Amino acid sequence: MVKVAVIEGDGIGPEVVKATLQVLEELKKRYSLPLEFTFVEAGDRAKEKYGDPLPKESYQKILESDAILKGPVGETAADVIVRLRRELDLYSNIRPAKTLPGVPALKEDIDIVIVRENIEDLYIGAEYILPPTSVGQRVAIGTRLTSERETRRIAKVAAEYAKMRKNKVTIIHKANVMRVTCGLFREVAREVLEKEGVEVDEMYVDAAAMELVRNPHRFDVMLTPNVFGDILSDLAAQVVGSLGLAPSANVGDERALFEPVHGAAFDIAGKGIANPIATMLASAMMLEWLEMKKGMENGRKAAEDLRKAIEKALTDGKKTKDLGGELGTFEFTEEVIKRL
Ligand code: ATP
Ligand code: MG
Repeated sequence: MVKVAVIEGDGIGPEVVKATLQVLEELKKRYSLPLEFTFVEAGDRAKEKYGDPLPKESYQKILESDAILKGPVGETAADVIVRLRRELDLYSNIRPAKTLPGVPALKEDIDIVIVRENIEDLYIGAEYILPPTSVGQRVAIGTRLTSERETRRIAKVAAEYAKMRKNKVTIIHKANVMRVTCGLFREVAREVLEKEGVEVDEMYVDAAAMELVRNPHRFDVMLTPNVFGDILSDLAAQVVGSLGLAPSANVGDERALFEPVHGAAFDIAGKGIANPIATMLASAMMLEWLEMKKGMENGRKAAEDLRKAIEKALTDGKKTKDLGGELGTFEFTEEVIKRL
């Protein structure tokens, strides 16, 4: 059996995860996938219930699983996802931004992969309040970490993706201002990529944000430090149509966690209108990874089938409200299942 730990999450999380599981159950039958799902409590509701957003028992179940499928977590997001990334050594975050048929986007035919460093940078949680100044003003300080080891590891991942695509990587940084941290990132990343025989290009993060809107076709694989990647991937998601479409994979050498890029979206939670595509596409990435890393047969085929079914549904005008359609979460899910 292939064990998948499922974290439903908060807000629209339980809805989009349930919709995705319905599709996965269908794929499981069709492709004889040996998937076994175990629900794991984590997030805001786990904190209310147990006083801990990631209780020991949940963490244990996660350790025993082959892969993790996760919905968005609300207030306690950092306690769950940032901790899991670090503790499970999920050092790369893969965020594809691809236009889909029938979905209006800023520009047509965009196909970008953002490879984001996932455990360092300003997200290490080293934030402090300094002693008050003489006039009693509070001052906080945050520390940014960039190591040669992590930069090497993430640059290798970017190189692997580049080789499957156009053999080109754009390194995103701000080395003109953060000369030491971004300076190291840029230098080490460039060295790794050049050694791997990949064409290297680089851009300041502010210019990259502008270019994503003005001329997104100039990008193929973007390699970014943690925080820049976080911001640019929300931007890229909207450039291709909607935050509700963007999947992500948090991947280490042995473990991986798959989740939508979007957050808990409390404003539309419980209404049955959330778009489940981001979570469904994240589950497609999971199926592929399970074949690649855990030898699960038919993982790639099932993922391909799921993507095609989503694209067909969209082409036929079956859409949720965020895409200008009328369907609810589960009505749309039925349309996808019909097209598998
Ligand atoms: P968080 O604080 O957890 O990041 P958020 O309130 O910032 O959550 P996001 O999920 O990041 O919300 O998204 C911002 C807005 O985009 C939401 O308010 C919601 O209206 C919309 N949105 C996000 N995800 C979806 C989705 N799957 N389907 C439809 N609309 C969505
Ligand atoms: Mg958000």
